[in-house]
Amino acid sequence: MYTSAPYLNSPIWMQELMLSVRGWARSSLREGAAFKRELAEVQSTQFLEREALQALQLARVKRTLVHAAANVPFYQQRFKSIGFDPRGMSSLDEIKQIPELSKRDVFDAGNAMLSRSHRGMRVRATTSGTTGQAMLVMRDLHSINRENAFGWRQMQWAGMKVGDRRAWIRGDKVVPAAQRVAPFWRHNRGENLLMMSSYHLSEATADAYLAELEAFDPVVFVAYPSAVLLLARHLIASGRKYRGRSLTGMVTSSETITDEQRRLVKEAFGVLMFDWYGCCERMVAIGTCEQGRYHLLSDYSYTELMPRGDGSSEVVGTSFDNMLMPWVRYRLGDEIVPAAPEFRCECGRSFPVISHLVGRIDDYVLAPDGRQVNMMSNVLDNIPHLLEGQVRQDKPGELRLVLAMADGAPLDEADVVRTVHAYIGSEMAVRIERVASVPRTGNGKLRVVVRTI
Ligand SMILES: [Zn+2]
Repeated sequence: MYTSAPYLNSPIWMQELMLSVRGWARSSLREGAAFKRELAEVQSTQFLEREALQALQLARVKRTLVHAAANVPFYQQRFKSIGFDPRGMSSLDEIKQIPELSKRDVFDAGNAMLSRSHRGMRVRATTSGTTGQAMLVMRDLHSINRENAFGWRQMQWAGMKVGDRRAWIRGDKVVPAAQRVAPFWRHNRGENLLMMSSYHLSEATADAYLAELEAFDPVVFVAYPSAVLLLARHLIASGRKYRGRSLTGMVTSSETITDEQRRLVKEAFGVLMFDWYGCCERMVAIGTCEQGRYHLLSDYSYTELMPRGDGSSEVVGTSFDNMLMPWVRYRLGDEIVPAAPEFRCECGRSFPVISHLVGRIDDYVLAPDGRQVNMMSNVLDNIPHLLEGQVRQDKPGELRLVLAMADGAPLDEADVVRTVHAYIGSEMAVRIERVASVPRTGNGKLRVVVRTI
């Protein structure tokens, strides 16, 4: 809608009316009776004890597998070839008999991944794969309602109630790309939502964004971490704090964040980042509770953690909800670090605790000696007055640091190079490039690590 001629050529009041009408339509579809049922259910499962959660997982896994065996050609073939019959399943461990599902399998299988018994709505989505082809994912209405319910539960953990004011700072193109003056946002009254463009947010426009946010006074921001961070760093550099009174939390997703970044947001806005980790395939989700801890949501899907031998684990997930296109033991290529299994969070939930999210396994750079080095974002955390940054590797043996500094702030380039060398070795050539803002991806995300070799 945002790129359509009627939208782009309309005055702001008309754009806001169009957004609001769409918002009303969307909330009546998404937040109707089916959604309310799902929300009530996910509210009730969040405090189940471990044994009850395991029983729920076994029942849901079995439901997915029995359905897949009866209706999805790819799994019919796969289960037959190994002599696996899910109807007799009595423990979650039995799932290990089934081979893991790879992206390649899904590409090659095409429509054989879809249920033949499905009737009704189908929604298409594509994964925003960083490398290679984008993959088509089909969803049914039930899975969309479930996802919304889990999304809402995350917002409730951040202090939001249905009907509260929300601000949204993500990659939606609500404002034409060429626009250079405020407003860089639109009001969607159908959802009581202030929709702000992440594309137009920069050091130069940050004050205008903050003034609008303080006037609208949302309870929760739903935002890319990079957008919240830019505002937090701008506030700190200006020697002031955010003045909105209602804010209870930031619900962020889509980019990995560090402890230092959480600290900056807490300092500037006085609230926690409730970071959400999900994926287009919807076979794993991790939410952040009121204690600021990541929980692997065991009522969302069944997730196996495959240790990589360095304390981290790779995620393999089985979906509970999308019967149109079920995912069974899908290896996503993402890496997380689980907390000790006996660790109990003070929030009282039994969902396993995750110490931190490493992110995509292929988000690494290559050291001159061939090592794959993850977590390069740590290097950026140590640069004073940095608004945002990116580590790029476009050729072997060289890193390019693309840095946007607070207005007029000095940059000790030699110190930055020393930090990088301490991290990855002094053979690595380091180039520093100062920019006004770091270029975003097609959907407005900031990718902190980009490797093109
Ligand atoms: Zn917790």
